[in-house]
Amino acid sequence: MVLLDQALENSRESFASGDFIAKLSSLVRLVTDSQNALSNEDLAKYYYEGLLDILVELGIRTKIIDNPIKNAPPFLIGERIESSELKTILLYGHGDTVPLQKGLWHDGISPNILKIIDEKIYGRGVADNKGQHFINLTALRSVLKTRKKLGFNLKIIFEMGEEIGSPGLLELCEINKDYFKSDVLIASDGPRVSVDVPTVFLGSRGAINFELEVKYREGAHHSGNWGGVLRDPGVRLSHALSVIADKNGKILIENWKPTSLTTEVRDRLKSLPATISDTLEIDENWGEPKLSPNEKLFGWNSFSILALKSGDIDVPVNAIQPSAKALCQLRFVVGTDTDKVISSLRDHLDHYGFEDIKITMENKFE
Ligand SMILES: [Zn+2]
Repeated sequence: MVLLDQALENSRESFASGDFIAKLSSLVRLVTDSQNALSNEDLAKYYYEGLLDILVELGIRTKIIDNPIKNAPPFLIGERIESSELKTILLYGHGDTVPLQKGLWHDGISPNILKIIDEKIYGRGVADNKGQHFINLTALRSVLKTRKKLGFNLKIIFEMGEEIGSPGLLELCEINKDYFKSDVLIASDGPRVSVDVPTVFLGSRGAINFELEVKYREGAHHSGNWGGVLRDPGVRLSHALSVIADKNGKILIENWKPTSLTTEVRDRLKSLPATISDTLEIDENWGEPKLSPNEKLFGWNSFSILALKSGDIDVPVNAIQPSAKALCQLRFVVGTDTDKVISSLRDHLDHYGFEDIKITMENKFE
């Protein structure tokens, strides 16, 4: 049997013997919701009680280190160096999850007790991210068992704050630039685009978030007395949004379009399977006209309104509101001039007479 087959056999064996499920159950049992008030000590238990034994088995020298940002959850880092001549893989994973949301699951499922129904594994963290990083670690263990070495150097970063925006991750990487120096980063996180199609992303779309705000005055003014003579921020903002994307989601700002969707890329995208989920119908006529769904997803940019606010929709009053806000996002691919996204938006809005709309940048390239 060739080595690869043996390694695959070892992996299959860990499923068949029940080892994989037993260990994954123990990871799911550890409640690691980073959005709630769990202490950093509780979150760090995932390292001590969840991961440490398998990392030791893999011969990784690990350390748990404080977050460079005060009071943010600690990191677990480590390395297994086989030879300075070999390539180095950096493996990333996060042990924290979103809240358990008990009661919102199908009947009979308790989120921190792993359950298998019709060949699907349920439990908080199974699909994000305990399942994925445990699969990767199990695969490494199979390789090590088969040929007694990995054949490459391995470095790892685990965090417990991904679901709260990864506080300190950037700083950690900056401080430890040399330690983490690697040839490739493998981060198995996020969903497959389709259950049946294993998905390898060689990059994912970036995001620029920004807020649009129109503010004309303090306080709301009665619409019976003032309607018709006071500018309505909600009306102005919706018109401004309508010049950013048309009614079918097509981006209307020329500089926001990528230059990278070449014939070569389109040809390659054609060879990909139709990767849209069978559980959600897509809207064929949404987005850039004449592009295929895969071209829209992997080769093009998209604009979204993440949240909109003017007045209080639960307690509306007869009044012209003083302000309106929209939190917006541009998802972008390579080939987008990201430095010009906000300035092009400013020019575009000004061109259409929306000088009164203020733009505030929310983040950079998440
Ligand atoms: Zn995740």
